[in-house]
Amino acid sequence: MSVRERKTENAEMAEKKEKFYITTPIYYTNGLPHIGHTYTTIVADVLRRYKRMRGYDAVMTTGTDEHGVNVERAAQKAGIPESEFVARMADAWRALWDELGLTADEFVRTTDLSHVRTVQWLFRLCKENGYVYKGHYTGLYCVYDNAYVSEPLPGNLCPDCDRPLETVTEENYFFKLSAFQKPLLDFYRKFPNFIQPDTRRNEIISFVEGGLKDLSITRTTVRWGIPVPGEEPHVFYVWFDALSAYMSAVGGPEYERRGMWPADVHLVGKDIIRFHTVYWPAFLMAAMLPLPKQVWAHGWFLMDAAKMSKSKGNVVLPRPIVNMLGMDALRYFLLRDVVFGQDGNFSYDALATRYNSDLANGLGNLASRTAAMLEKDFGGKLPKPADRLPQDEALAKESQSAIGEVLERFDKFEFSRALETIWSVIAAADKYLTEEKPWALGNSPEEESRKGTILWTAAELLRVVSALAHPVLPDSTAKIWKLLGQPGSLDALELDGLRWGQLAPGTALGKFQALFPRVEKTEAVERIEAMANEEQNPTEPAAPKPTASASATGTGAAPAPAAGTNEKIGIEDFAKVEMRVGQVKTAERIVGADKLLKLTVDIGSEVRQICAGIAQYYEPESLIGRKVVVVVNLAPRKLRGVESNGMIVAASVGPDGRPVLAGFHEEVEVGARLK
Ligand SMILES: [Zn+2]
Repeated sequence: MSVRERKTENAEMAEKKEKFYITTPIYYTNGLPHIGHTYTTIVADVLRRYKRMRGYDAVMTTGTDEHGVNVERAAQKAGIPESEFVARMADAWRALWDELGLTADEFVRTTDLSHVRTVQWLFRLCKENGYVYKGHYTGLYCVYDNAYVSEPLPGNLCPDCDRPLETVTEENYFFKLSAFQKPLLDFYRKFPNFIQPDTRRNEIISFVEGGLKDLSITRTTVRWGIPVPGEEPHVFYVWFDALSAYMSAVGGPEYERRGMWPADVHLVGKDIIRFHTVYWPAFLMAAMLPLPKQVWAHGWFLMDAAKMSKSKGNVVLPRPIVNMLGMDALRYFLLRDVVFGQDGNFSYDALATRYNSDLANGLGNLASRTAAMLEKDFGGKLPKPADRLPQDEALAKESQSAIGEVLERFDKFEFSRALETIWSVIAAADKYLTEEKPWALGNSPEEESRKGTILWTAAELLRVVSALAHPVLPDSTAKIWKLLGQPGSLDALELDGLRWGQLAPGTALGKFQALFPRVEKTEAVERIEAMANEEQNPTEPAAPKPTASASATGTGAAPAPAAGTNEKIGIEDFAKVEMRVGQVKTAERIVGADKLLKLTVDIGSEVRQICAGIAQYYEPESLIGRKVVVVVNLAPRKLRGVESNGMIVAASVGPDGRPVLAGFHEEVEVGARLK
């Protein structure tokens, strides 16, 4: 039964939407998000958007796990209090999610007071129900993973991260996990979809069948944690603390008022599935609270078949990819290229290939050629379709049946197959246009009418495809939606009402905006890698900021001393700077760097490539032939991955530091030196 049907069945409930609560893990703050975290968070956002388009009140939670020995140590190393260290980390995570358009509805920090209350409340319930006792624990512990290790590698190394383990003995509170073997197995049998995918369910069932040991849930050796009330120095140990965040995000002890708990799906990496499908439901059973409906474990992205990790130095960062190709491209690639639940290989090469084939040549090209023909032949208004030929009917039928198929695939979290279906419709439309050749039709009434039918069909297909792909490609599909003159926001469209044939003839088209400019693959990959390098090795000069005076030209020279400073330099210092007259030969914008222009400049002895941070103030065409002042003996460097060999001199004007290029009022020879 769809939400819509359920709503009409119960008239009093007509206003109340069905809820759908999605969580990502509460990420550990020992570093910044890489592509693995980004992937989970993208999937959560896709689900949220999809569920909203199906009429649900969908809420997504993410957050930061801020306690434990690692944070203690990192803060010590940074010379700041733990609270300040975690506040900085939480801000950085939140800022990156905002930048990537992945802002969660709830962002939990495990140092939040509301979370502290939730953990203490959950502990009290477990204790009152007789599932908590005091004991001693001795074990090998990995501080990096925050976990005791029962089967260490030879030499007492952690099986997950290869780091040396530490032997720890302490008084602990224990949770009677052993009491939950049968209840958990019964639960898995009763709800076979609780653990997904199936391979993970089988692993967990055999793990639980092998017997469960009681679990230490507090520590006395850690200082930086949530205190156990009246039991200091006991603090809660990582999983009892972190997992509770899913409840504290939606009300904690007052969860019933918010109405979001239990979670409909916890999205997790496969490495933490055991904690989510064994510990977490057992804690909730002990506290007699509702259990989450599903835990979905995705695979890892592998670089050269190795798990990505900070220590291996093969971490892929999201920002350089987004700068170069856009967020929609990253979202599309991650969901299309890997079957959700399985491991996948990540390569920039595959990313750039897919970008060109599926986005630039596929969806982007279909939209731009359709819009161009509608503009040229129908004055930017949607024509009225006339008699339909079998090939028109076939395309209509394929699109209509794709609607149901895509929704079904999204419901099953088969994102890759959903996108495959959508892109097969796009391919069918390309073939249709190639065969029908609307551009070759003349101006007779019959041919004009045929052309109208073909272009209306292509436009209608674009509308359907945009609605279906919107959860994955929110920005570009919204542009196509506006292009087709459709009212309102695509976010608010109800997918249950989507049908072929709803595109009204006579609708005026909106302005065409470029969707996915084609990229040269080798150059794109090089630039992404260079930007990733800039981000990971911030010792290199920072990217240009329009406010800094000397770096306004984007060449990253040291900031000039403030005007009026008393510091003087000798002539020999000035003589170190070689400035020459140059003439701009070519100028172009740089994809992924909206402040920079790429110039080639003749400096007499040679032609140099120079990047300048003037794109917001100078049109590239206006610069060609212009004579400029170039610092020619500056060490070459890369800006946004583009080599820059020299610096163009400009004045920095006004509070925004608007760059004004230095020039001459009389003829000067190219290559002349400034003294
Ligand atoms: Zn480890």
